[in-house]
Amino acid sequence: MGFDRSGIEGALRRASTTRQVVVEPGAMARTGEILSSLTDGRTAVAVADETTFGLAGDVVTSSLEASGIAVQPPVILDDAPRLHADSAQVAVVRSALEDAPAGTIPVALGSGTLNDLTKRAAFEIGVPYIVVGTAASMDGYTASGASLVQDGFKTTLPCDAPIAVVSDPDLLADAPVPMTASGYGDLAGKVTAGADWLLADAVGVEPIQPDIWAMVQHPLHRALRDPGALRRRDVAAVEQLFLGLVMTGLAIQATGSSRPASGSEHQFSHLWEMRDLEVSHGFKVAFGTLWSTHIYEAVLTRSVQEIDWEGAGDRWPDLEQQEEEVRAHIDDPVMVTRALVEVRAKYVPKEILRARLATLRDEWAALHQRLRAQLIPSSELRDLLQRAGCPVTPEEIGLTPGQVRESVIAARQIRRRYTVLDLVLELGIRDEIVL
Ligand SMILES: [Zn+2]
Repeated sequence: MGFDRSGIEGALRRASTTRQVVVEPGAMARTGEILSSLTDGRTAVAVADETTFGLAGDVVTSSLEASGIAVQPPVILDDAPRLHADSAQVAVVRSALEDAPAGTIPVALGSGTLNDLTKRAAFEIGVPYIVVGTAASMDGYTASGASLVQDGFKTTLPCDAPIAVVSDPDLLADAPVPMTASGYGDLAGKVTAGADWLLADAVGVEPIQPDIWAMVQHPLHRALRDPGALRRRDVAAVEQLFLGLVMTGLAIQATGSSRPASGSEHQFSHLWEMRDLEVSHGFKVAFGTLWSTHIYEAVLTRSVQEIDWEGAGDRWPDLEQQEEEVRAHIDDPVMVTRALVEVRAKYVPKEILRARLATLRDEWAALHQRLRAQLIPSSELRDLLQRAGCPVTPEEIGLTPGQVRESVIAARQIRRRYTVLDLVLELGIRDEIVL
């Protein structure tokens, strides 16, 4: 089975904030009824850009009015040339919400950026919000937290997920093909995110939570099987992708951590997002997933005898050397400060690393098996991504092969999460694998 509505219903029972996910034909005309059933707010305001207001503005406004909700003039953000997910735009939405009558419920019409801006602005003034999704383009709809650029640093700011997600599968299927491809890339990232969680579990850093694992990982491989259907705008296929993306957000709500949805592939995408590349989040994740898979494969070619377990412990850089490497690989001073915090948070002294290496050596064969079962072989993954319309070369996301190889160093430094990027450093094989 892939992702379906009954799975979503089960996940909603564990979610911290989201109460309803309504993805069905005509769903947008139910927005007013859904809002009334979940809040006692009697005033609402749409937050959109020109494009998304054109797609959903009229039907959502009429639906709200039909439920007796007073609708404020919409907040239409300027999306030319591109709407930025940054703190300046949050301030724009927030001030519009502050000008509206107290208790006005924002209704975001859109996908990644509009959802994140509205989510954060609503959180800052302490009101719930609803999102009407217009594309299956990323997994942030139901995530707690918004990915925003603050002081030039891509960061996940805390905030509550929407109380409801509303979308019409026909509208989703009509979205531009690159947006749907981006969503496919973001969902494909759950494969390496899962592998990284297996790894963190094996070294005792972050145990697998079996029920959360099942929510995302059990339907995942099947859901990724037919990217061609997305390109053909097959409505059922796009709906399933959207539900998969919503499901990963619900898993984040259930755990209070993005671990179920984000691993090394997102460390790459976050790093590249700070470089302001002109490609979508999902495209960066797609390529990051392929690159992480290559790194995994390079690790998995080594049998237990082919790793120098003793030498790895001896060569482990101390904290001072690791901090030095941060300064050598990140230019921006704000980013350096943040990365130092992350690197210190995950630093382990040599004795602890030796114990970790001993565990890995004992479990190497079993871990190999688990990782091989989890990962999609890179040749197959490349083919799937290409069929979906995702980038599969560095150039397609605006980087050189050298920059991609070097990213292995800084991507590890910007987040404390344990992933394959930590593993290769700890095994002392990072530089021979990638540089
Ligand atoms: Zn993502």
